[in-house]
Amino acid sequence: KGDPRLQAISEAISVIPHFPKPGIMFQDITTLLLNHKAFKDTVDIFVERYRDMGISVVAGIEARGFMFGPSVALAIGAKFVPLRKPGKLPAKVVSQAYELEYGTDCLEMHIDAIQHGERAVVIDDLVATGGTLSAAMKLLECRGAEVVECACVIGLPDVKRQPRLNGKPLYILVEPR
Ligand code: AMP
Repeated sequence: KGDPRLQAISEAISVIPHFPKPGIMFQDITTLLLNHKAFKDTVDIFVERYRDMGISVVAGIEARGFMFGPSVALAIGAKFVPLRKPGKLPAKVVSQAYELEYGTDCLEMHIDAIQHGERAVVIDDLVATGGTLSAAMKLLECRGAEVVECACVIGLPDVKRQPRLNGKPLYILVEPR
């Protein structure tokens, strides 16, 4: 990588120990959003990567994927598709359950948001196990989209050692400090 913008992006992310429960080192991107240069650089890096890749869909994962995805979508001329927690989307949806450390969760997408054959990028703030991104990829793929890549601002070290997800590349800007 070696992009000189990455260090300031990393330093703009706060680490909050033991949130939301003991043992978790919570990576808080709200302080990145407060720093205009670091926020803009984050979006710009994604835009530079995806602008010439024939991407027509940027899919963002609720809630922190919504803080980066729409800016990237607008800049590259793609549409933005929100992938939401259950029961939030009003029209007809497809659902995909996925495993959490304790129990399961679910993501939903409007069925008519995607046309068969579209090229998509999935964006979230952070990847840990990759379970959330995998569920997101399945939603897009079940509607006939091709997921070109998943993109996150932060990658926990587990995922960094294996930087592909369901056979697709995973693009990560920084590791936790
Ligand atoms: P995973 O499905 O295990 O890759 O978890 C990724 C999801 O959980 C993302 O939506 C993250 O926002 C959230 N998440 C997991 N671990 C953390 C953490 N240490 N700090 C902030 N968010 C986290």
